[in-house]
Amino acid sequence: MAENTTPFNFDSAALRKKYDYERDKRLNLRPEGEAQFFRMRGSQFEGRLQDPYTEYQERDARSEDVEVAIIGGGFAGLLAAARLIEQGIDDIRIFERGGDFGGTWYWNRYPGAACDVESYIYLPLLEEVGTMPSARYIFAPEILEHCRAIARKYDLYSRALLHTSINEARLDEASSRWIIKSDRGDEIRARFVILASGHYREPKLPGIPGIETFKQHSFHTSRWDYDYTGGSPYEPMEKLKDKVVGIIGTGATAVQCIPHLAKTAKHLFVFQRTPSSIDVRDNRPTDPEWYNSLKPGWHQERMRNFVLAVRGMTPVDLIQDGWTKFGKLIMQNVRPDMAEKQIEELMQLIDFRMMEDIRARIDTIITDRDTAEALKPWYNWLCKRPCYHDEYLDVFNQPNVTLVDTDGKGVERISEDAVFANGQEYKVDCLVFATGFELSPYEKGTPIPVIGRGDRTLEDKWEHGASTLHGIHVHDFPNFMLSGTRQGSWENNFPFAQEVVATHIAAIIRKAMDRGADTVEVTADAEQEWVNIHRQRSQRNLAMWRDCTPSYFNQEGRADERVILNGTFGGSALEFEEILIQWRADGLPGLVMAEKEA
Ligand code: NDP
Repeated sequence: MAENTTPFNFDSAALRKKYDYERDKRLNLRPEGEAQFFRMRGSQFEGRLQDPYTEYQERDARSEDVEVAIIGGGFAGLLAAARLIEQGIDDIRIFERGGDFGGTWYWNRYPGAACDVESYIYLPLLEEVGTMPSARYIFAPEILEHCRAIARKYDLYSRALLHTSINEARLDEASSRWIIKSDRGDEIRARFVILASGHYREPKLPGIPGIETFKQHSFHTSRWDYDYTGGSPYEPMEKLKDKVVGIIGTGATAVQCIPHLAKTAKHLFVFQRTPSSIDVRDNRPTDPEWYNSLKPGWHQERMRNFVLAVRGMTPVDLIQDGWTKFGKLIMQNVRPDMAEKQIEELMQLIDFRMMEDIRARIDTIITDRDTAEALKPWYNWLCKRPCYHDEYLDVFNQPNVTLVDTDGKGVERISEDAVFANGQEYKVDCLVFATGFELSPYEKGTPIPVIGRGDRTLEDKWEHGASTLHGIHVHDFPNFMLSGTRQGSWENNFPFAQEVVATHIAAIIRKAMDRGADTVEVTADAEQEWVNIHRQRSQRNLAMWRDCTPSYFNQEGRADERVILNGTFGGSALEFEEILIQWRADGLPGLVMAEKEA
C-alpha cells in the first residue's frame, strides 16, 4: 500500500447535503420520471429515424435453416459471431437493422463522436484483426471501420442480412427450432438464437410541450443531418455560419459535439438541465513503435488490467487515465485492516475528492463566475457517465456560445421557432436533441417479441422483472441466449463484458453440438438460484442509484426492484467470467442438454 497522500480537505457533510438537495430538486421538478420522454419510433418523429447513410436495397425474402441466428450486428453481435467461428461454428445468420455492421457506431456519426474509454481496450478483437488505432481515443469513423474490418476478417458480410429488422422470434416446439420473421418477409429457422440487440436501442425525445410544433430544422444526435449543417465528422460545419443553433442536453453525446457546433455556429445556445462531469482527456496519437512492440496477448492483458485498475485492485495501471485515477486513489488509501463499513466511507471520500477536483478544474478554465458555477456537477462520479474532454469547457468562454442553465428544470416549452427556458425566449434556426436513448434492459418487455414454450412471451415472463441464468439462459426459452446486461455483467469498458459473454455462449453452443444435443435449457430451479445470487449481489446498487441524481441509469431517480432484477450483476466482468468458467468446468449444472427424441 502506498503512503496516504490524498487530501480529504472538504466538508463531507456539506457536500452530501448539497448532493441530496440537487437530486431532490430534480425529482420534485420531474414527477413523471421516465414518462417525461417518448420513443421516436412509433411517434410522429419516426420518419427521422430513417437510415441516412446507406441506400436501402430491395431483395428477395429468405427462407432458410441455420444453426445460429444472431440478432444485432454491433459489438455484441460481431463478438458472438467471431467467437462462434473460432469454435468452428460457421452456419450463422446475422440480422442488423442498420445498413452495415457497427451498431451504435453505425448510427452515431455526430461531430466529435469518439470512444470515451482508451481505444486499445475499447475496440474488440484488436489482435485478431490486426488493427492499430490511430490514437488513444479514436473518433467514430475509425471505430466503424474497425467493425467493418472484423466483419471482413470473419467473413460476416456473406452471413448478414443488413437493413433487416426482426419482427418476432417464435419457438416451434415440435422441431425445436426458432422461427424468426423479419420486416423483409424473411423466415429463418434457427437452432440457436443469440439476442445481441444492444444496450441503447431506441433514441428518445423529451415530451417538452410544443415539441411537435417546431417548424425550423431539428434532428436527434443519432441521425446527424450533415446536409443541413455541412461538414462531416472531420470537417467544419460551414453551413452553420449564419445559423443560430440550440442544443438540448449536456450528456456524454452533447459534450462531444458541442465544441464542434461552437466552432462554426453563428450562435449556440446550450440548454442544460444537469451538467456532466468533465475531466481531462489527454488524447494523443499512437506511437507505432510502441504499438508494434506489444507482445501477443497484450490486448487481453490490457483489458483485464483496466477492470482491476479502475477498482484499485492492482498496483499496475497500464492505462493511466481519468478512469483509473479512481482506482489509484483507492490503492493509496485503503488499508488491509479496514472493515467493510470503513471501506464504504472511504469510497465516498474518494468520490468527493474526484468530483471536487472536477469542479475546481472548471474554475481554472471558465472566466465568467456564474457560468462556472452552473457547470459544476453535484452528484457522485458514476451517477452519470463521466465525460473526458479538453475543449468542452473552453467553449463557454466563446462569445458565440451561451449556456442556458435551467437549474434542473429543463426547457419549458418549444414554439414554431424558439425554445423557452427560465421564462425567456431563445429563437433558433436549428435545434439538436442530445436527449439520449432508452436503456433496453429497463424497457418493459424485450426489444422484439420472443415467444417460447406454451406460446408464452418473454415480456409476459418478465412482467415483474427479468429472471435468467447468468443473464443468458431463460427457462421455457430453450436455445435462446441473451448477450445483454440484464443480470449479466457490466464494465465501464463495456465491450470487455460483451466479450466475456460472447466467448461463453460460443463455448456452450460448441458443447451442445459436440454432445449432439438438440435443446439447451436452464431448469426453473437453476434460474431461480441465479436470480437469488444476483439479487443479493446487486442490493447495494439499489442504494447507490437511490442516492444519485436522476438519469436513465436509475429510472430517472425512481430506482425500484426493476433496477435490481433488470440491472447488472454486482461483480466485475472478471469475477463474472470466473463464475462462468467454473460453471462450465463443473459440467453446466442446471442446464439441460436434451437429444432430439427419435
Ligand atoms: P443522456 O441520456 O446521457 O443525456 C441526455 C441529456 O438530455 C441530459 O443532459 C438530460 O438532462 C438532457 N435533457 C433531457 N430532457 C431535457 C429537457 N427537457 N430539458 C433540458 N435537457 C434535457 O444521453 P447521451 O446521448 O448524452 O448519452 C447516452 C449514453 O451513451 C451515455 O451515458 C454513454 O453511456 C453513451 N455514450 C458513450 C459515448 C462514448 O463511448 N464515447 C459517447 C456518447 C454517449 P438531465 O441530465 O438533467 O437528465
